[in-house]
Amino acid sequence: MSSKVLFASVEYTKYNANETLPAKFGRLIDRMGLEEVVKGKLTAIKMHLGRNIGYSTIHPLFVKILADKLKGYGAKVFITDQDISSARTRGYTEEYLGVPIVYACGFTGKYYYEKYVDFNTFKNVDVAGYIHDAEVMIDLSHVKGHGACGYGGACKNIAMGCVTDRTRAQIHSLEGGIEWIEERCIHCELCIESCNHNANSFDKEGKYNVFFHHCTFCQHCVKVCPNEALVMTADRYKDFQTGMAICTETVLGTFAPGHVFYINFLTNITALCDCWGLTTPSLVPDIGIMASKDIVAIERACLDAIKFENLIMQGVPRGYVLGDKGHLFERLHGKDPFVQLEELEKRNLGTQQYVIEEVE
Ligand code: SF4
Ligand code: SF4
Repeated sequence: MSSKVLFASVEYTKYNANETLPAKFGRLIDRMGLEEVVKGKLTAIKMHLGRNIGYSTIHPLFVKILADKLKGYGAKVFITDQDISSARTRGYTEEYLGVPIVYACGFTGKYYYEKYVDFNTFKNVDVAGYIHDAEVMIDLSHVKGHGACGYGGACKNIAMGCVTDRTRAQIHSLEGGIEWIEERCIHCELCIESCNHNANSFDKEGKYNVFFHHCTFCQHCVKVCPNEALVMTADRYKDFQTGMAICTETVLGTFAPGHVFYINFLTNITALCDCWGLTTPSLVPDIGIMASKDIVAIERACLDAIKFENLIMQGVPRGYVLGDKGHLFERLHGKDPFVQLEELEKRNLGTQQYVIEEVE
């Protein structure tokens, strides 16, 4: 069975404010079925509020529209993220938005509920205290590329944003895909010279390191190595996405069924996650806003809407070598972004089958 995904397109026919995205967003929210669920309930809007001088997070105007709608439905609303320290820089203020903005794990980062999982070295999901306390969550996500998993959307906003630093570190420690066999290495450094992505290095102790966020698994380093000291460990990179799915499942398990809603913004779709604190030009033209009660369906619909044919080359660093197969995000980051969807689907969190209902 397919899940419904509401879609408000950026397209318009007239120069009329009522045809533009903020107006459509209001009408999209009205069709989400929020009113009957949120009335009287503590409702968290989970966002990534960005860092530093990045400006491609969701515009405060849209956040205000959502907060006002929720308050109008009788919800007790707050906005939360793991780090809110520079939210004001982008205009997210309590004065303007009219709701509290709180650190998801409290000001000290120590307010969380520990859950246990068992996937390789990933053991602890520390669910942020204010996420755990909320009765309803609006997972409000900005869609973009992500170096470690190809794509960042609704799943990434939960898995990396509703937990402590410890949990995030455990998920990141799942990254991998290339192994270095020290006793075979003659330190010729051909592998370093061959990498177009500044992903590999030797540390002060002469140990080889790969920054898997930047690594596209192009295998140049593996192929130039004269002594077979570098070996691909097939599919290891997928563990990161599996870890994200496990974390997302655990966080969602703290909510009653039907109490989490997903809204994905397909605007300013950039190469990297907003946590980099910078904004590069868009990779593809703006598309619009999607909403669903199904996390897998909305993620699939978003990935399908981002097409390689629409690539704007200014969105890619000059001279950057793109891969030649797969989704735009796979060509950019070397990681198949659909793995996280498959892992969410395996855990019965939704379906990749969807139908789009356009909101005019
Ligand atoms: S696989 Fe490619 S991107 Fe990754 S470290 Fe080797 S040369 Fe660099
Ligand atoms: S190319 Fe191979 S032998 Fe040379 S430094 Fe790199 S890992 Fe070591």
